[in-house]
Amino acid sequence: MNAAQVKEIKALLSSPKNIVIVTHWSPDGDAMGSSLGLYNYLIQKKHKVTVITPNDYPSFLHWLPADNKVINFSSKAKPAKTAVAKADIVFCLDFNSLKRIDALGDEVGKSKAVKCIIDHHLQPEDFAKYMLHDVKACSTCELVFEFIELMGDKKLLNKDISNCLYTGIMTDTGSFRFPSTTAKTHGIIAELIKAGAENAAIHTRIYDDNTEDKLKLLGFCLAEKLTVLKELGTAFFSLREDELKHFNYKKGDTEGIVNYALSIKGIRFAAFFVERDGEIKTSFRSKGSFNVNLFSRKHFNGGGHANAAGGMSDLTLDETIIKFVSVLAAYKKELQTKLV
Ligand code: 5GP
Ligand code: MN
Repeated sequence: MNAAQVKEIKALLSSPKNIVIVTHWSPDGDAMGSSLGLYNYLIQKKHKVTVITPNDYPSFLHWLPADNKVINFSSKAKPAKTAVAKADIVFCLDFNSLKRIDALGDEVGKSKAVKCIIDHHLQPEDFAKYMLHDVKACSTCELVFEFIELMGDKKLLNKDISNCLYTGIMTDTGSFRFPSTTAKTHGIIAELIKAGAENAAIHTRIYDDNTEDKLKLLGFCLAEKLTVLKELGTAFFSLREDELKHFNYKKGDTEGIVNYALSIKGIRFAAFFVERDGEIKTSFRSKGSFNVNLFSRKHFNGGGHANAAGGMSDLTLDETIIKFVSVLAAYKKELQTKLV
């Protein structure tokens, strides 16, 4: 986003507008934190703002300020469609391809509103007039902070915005441990805490929200469902739908499990395959130079970041795993590079 575009957006936001904020399918902490952070900023400027998610998100995110204002498209399509049709501006947060918002993508695609992408995923598609895009940003929340700064509105940072943005930065950086965490990230975090972010309470709300079932599902995965391919530096988990049912699966219960596979010494590439609603959702994580965005785009119809990506498979769970293991062989050299 260049200086002239910043000026144009400033002018656009200088009088009350109908604004819609949309974020990606199965929203995570960064998706909800950035959307509600931007919401809590824009309402102070007297805009009428509607946040729409394609589907629901985990319970540990439902405390975010203004969560009760979010419209879930999968259960309330009508008011969501009306809001998009009436919108002057649509902000697209934490995604960069309309495919990532499922059926909501048709509404956004045909809308005449001015579109603005704020995102940090690789290889953005060209569907918006404005784009605040930086693959080096640790999170979309970091970019929303920058957006507020570019608008000359840092004075409007308050506790609600800060709690939202802190949440997304914390979750997308794995609690400030991934290489995407920079001095700039910590600088922004310091400003958010000064503006009221309840840092310790946020960690508790996000990470201490486990149910007994969720922990037992994790225990089951670790004890029964882990495969380690040592010579390929790879480890993965898989879960069938009946196994999820056995542990009374709720949205968010499998989040983070893939990271346990990546935490094994010598493992550079971790995967997680889960059968849900007859489809296979894949999650990929890596350490070092192995690019899971490219891997997922090439083999699993997905994408994401260099070290964290997701995708889908139309095969059965067993067939998906066979495919995964067979394509891995071609990456043997890359998967044996030295880590730190
Ligand atoms: P997760 O494995 O947690 O679902 O996703 C990891 C990262 O990859 C996130 O940044 C997420 O937005 C992205 N991602 C997940 N699934 C997909 C997908 O199907 N397509 C694309 N393009 N990105 C995905
Ligand atoms: Mn993100």
